[in-house]
Amino acid sequence: MRRVLIANRGEIAVRIIRACRELNLETVAVYSEADAASLHVRMADEAVAIGPPPALRSYLNIPRLMQVAVDTGCDAVHPGYGFLSENPAFAQVCEAMGITFVGPSSATLRLLGDKIAARDLAARAGVPVVPGSARPLVSLEEACALARQVGYPVLLKALAGGGGRGIRLVRDEEGLRRRWELAAEEARTAFGSPELYLEKYLEHPRHIEIQVLADARGNLVHLGERDCSLQRRRQKVLEECPSPALDEGMRRTLARAALRIMRAARYRGAGTVEFLVAGDAYYFLEVNARIQVEHPVTEMVWGVDLVQEQLRIAAGQPLRFSQGELRPRGWALEMRICAEDPDEDFLPCPGTLVAYRPPGGPGVRVDDGVYPGWTIPPHYDSLLAKLTVWGPTRQEAVARARRALLEYVIEGVRTTIPLHLRLLDDPFFRRGEASTVYLDRSADP
Ligand code: ADP
Ligand code: ADP
Ligand code: MG
Repeated sequence: MRRVLIANRGEIAVRIIRACRELNLETVAVYSEADAASLHVRMADEAVAIGPPPALRSYLNIPRLMQVAVDTGCDAVHPGYGFLSENPAFAQVCEAMGITFVGPSSATLRLLGDKIAARDLAARAGVPVVPGSARPLVSLEEACALARQVGYPVLLKALAGGGGRGIRLVRDEEGLRRRWELAAEEARTAFGSPELYLEKYLEHPRHIEIQVLADARGNLVHLGERDCSLQRRRQKVLEECPSPALDEGMRRTLARAALRIMRAARYRGAGTVEFLVAGDAYYFLEVNARIQVEHPVTEMVWGVDLVQEQLRIAAGQPLRFSQGELRPRGWALEMRICAEDPDEDFLPCPGTLVAYRPPGGPGVRVDDGVYPGWTIPPHYDSLLAKLTVWGPTRQEAVARARRALLEYVIEGVRTTIPLHLRLLDDPFFRRGEASTVYLDRSADP
């Protein structure tokens, strides 16, 4: 592996460029017309325009991306997260053209991308799954029968959904009948497939996920858990490592379950197994077959560079450590800094960064994709930066997070910094007791 095409934008493109540079790999960025002035374009060794902003015509345009890879002599593609990262067709084209896809095989992506197939795989690996569909719902009548069987409330989910979207809470049969058509139609427009499935709705679960690394030779290790319970409308807001809510028994149980699932999926690369935990019960949710937004908390606590490891594994190298050599240390928190107005229902807030000065000092890491004077294009998600802090204990990490947020200067657009400051002072959060619906408690989840 010598030269890597980065099929993404924003902070994750910058993050991948940094890892490549540390491994002496050359980088080729791609950008849409709306991203010509973006940081990842400036930082890469080479950058190529790929089309207008609708993602289908640029960041999701597989033929165009492959053409750029060939024209610029890339022998690998890193897809980041979102966009094409979990697209089996993209991985398959890479395989056919002899270009290394930094991620699992297309077969594994196809299996795990079908959320019902993934549930089935987990169940066969002996891991509990949330009660619900064993196959895509074919009719409203079937949905009603299944919902009666598992018991209301239920969640109606788009089979191809992701990023917390395409999920609807249904409290009774009347609600299910009312939402059925619309949910299918929305799934079709948003994810290209109208297929739906349903799951029993757990009332106050925690979202706990296990980070896994697997090499091409079948060696697997886990790097503990991340607690992503702090969410707004099923989208993660603040993540931490370790979880303040797990005892050692549950921690071990989840890690073992994750490894069983990933082994059964013949997983290769960095991937995450998501669970919901409610009291003593735990349930498999899905596998995210890619690097995750919140990977820095794991990196800070486990001392491993996950993006570098992705690249090493893709280059065919064996894992450089055994499970016994991996030890967590201290506590990390990540706060997603989004250009959204927390006082206006989190309305996206594109605009120009009149001033931008990220925090620094001990234990502070900023993953951003912006610079002073840059204008945020309105076409993409609103994540500007991720602020991750480390401390020897949770309490010290929280104090450091507060200090770093107060240091952060962003002028010209509203951001979620005030939300994070409020959250850090919240007694519920301080005690580590918040569930996935905590931030939505005043709104209708
Ligand atoms: P996505 O692919 O969009 O990430 P997930 O199935 O991982 O979808 O769910 C996203 C979030 O929605 C979870 O983190 C959790 O907060 C909530 N959620 C999903 N399934 C359930 C469930 N059965 N009960 C309660 N909450 C759920
Ligand atoms: P993580 O678990 O890594 O935090 P998220 O669920 O927050 O992942 O999603 C990461 C990014 O990928 C977000 O920008 C989200 O919008 C995007 N994303 C993930 N899956 C999909 C999908 N199926 N369709 C559209 N966007 C997606
Ligand atoms: Mg998920």
